[in-house]
Formats: sequence, structure tokens, C-alpha cells
Amino acid sequence: MQLAAAPEDVLADALQRFPAERIAISFSGAEDVVLIDMAVKLGYAVQVFSLDTGRLHAETYQFIERVRERYDLEIEMLMPDASTVGQLVREKGLFSFLRDGHQECCAIRKIQPLRKKLRGLDAWITGQRQDQSVTRTSVPTEQDDHAFGSNDHPLVKYNPLAQWSSQDVWDYIRANDVPYNELHNRGFTSIGCEPCTRPTGPHQHEREGRWWWEEAEDKECGLHEQNVKPVAAVD
Ligand code: SF4
Repeated sequence: MQLAAAPEDVLADALQRFPAERIAISFSGAEDVVLIDMAVKLGYAVQVFSLDTGRLHAETYQFIERVRERYDLEIEMLMPDASTVGQLVREKGLFSFLRDGHQECCAIRKIQPLRKKLRGLDAWITGQRQDQSVTRTSVPTEQDDHAFGSNDHPLVKYNPLAQWSSQDVWDYIRANDVPYNELHNRGFTSIGCEPCTRPTGPHQHEREGRWWWEEAEDKECGLHEQNVKPVAAVD
């Protein structure tokens, strides 16, 4: 049986393959800071962006700031288009996702800014893991991203931690004193926007605190559509 590629090796391959201005880490959660920590220790000045939906917890903004200071990083905050958000809120209010499902609001606050950013990249790196949810069980370490790329503009997506467990992530965080969102100390496991995230109990899956009014199969916001195919078996 082949051993899984070490995340550091996947990361190093990715960062060597693409020029620094054409590849970036997408940062929101604990896994992403593990990747930032690894990239810094490998000696790369990696580009980092984060989606500022305007609905994040204060603790999440403080977390982003701690990461920026700790690694002396520029973190690009991607904001949604103000007029599109304004129209949604004017027509449907501030909590339309509770009634209509989260897809519309996520499309405006997350997908549109992400799509715009990815148009300027050839590859992006995420902290997705296979055991995060029923929608991520087949996430590979490297894939052609057909959700955000195209024939005219191919895009590669790297998920170096695809085969790590939550325990692996937290072992790394503790061993390397990596900054994390303090909401994790209050029972939050997977952290998104404030109105769509709540703490989970000890026997609940980590994604059960996200969009809890929807079915598990619907708990993706479109950032990680899986209509992307593996590039190579690196594991
Ligand atoms: S997670 Fe909730 S508040 Fe955030 S963009 Fe999606 S629906 Fe909107």
C-alpha cells in the first residue's frame, strides 16, 4: 500500500510549480493556518487571502489579525460587492438564509468574491479534509478545479491535508503553537459566519454546527464544489 504524501511535500511541490503571484492559500479555519505555518517553515513567501463576508464573529477577525502578526503576512480580505449585498438585504432582509437556504447569500458574500480572485490565479490551496463531512469524503490532495477554472483558464486546487484527521490538525497546532480561533475553546468546531455557526456537542460531527437547519448533504457553500477531478494519485 502506498503511503499518503506528506502535506509539506504536497505544499512544496505546489509552491515550486507556480510563481508566487499565481498561487495562494485560502484562509479561514484552523487547517489553513497549519498550511501557512508549513509554508513559512518551508521558506516560501506565500500569498494568503480570506473571505470577509461581513458576517464573521469578532473572534474570527481577531484570529485573522493574530495570524497576520504572527507570520508577518499580508492577508488579502476579499469583500462582497456592496451593491449586490445591499440589494439582497433590501429585498430579503438580513437573515434570508434561514428561510430560503444559505446558497443565495453564500453566492453573493463568498462565491462571487472568490471567483473574482481565482480569475487571477493558476492554483489555490485549501485546508479541506476528507473526514470533515459527507460531501468531502473523496477530496484528493490535488485536482483540476472545473468549478472555478475552465478550458481557457485551467485552475489547480491543492488540498494537502485531505487525508488528515481533525486530531492530526490539532496535534500539529499544539506541537507548533499555531494560532487558532478562540471560539474553538467554546465548543465551536467548524467556524463560518456568526449567524450560521453554533457550537457542537461532544458526539456531534464538526459540520453539524454549520447551517443546522439544513440537511448534511446541503452543507457546502459552493467554495468547494466537488465537480473537480483528481490530477494524479499522490497517495
Ligand atoms: S454562511 Fe450564512 S451569513 Fe455567511 S454567507 Fe453563507 S448564508 Fe450568508
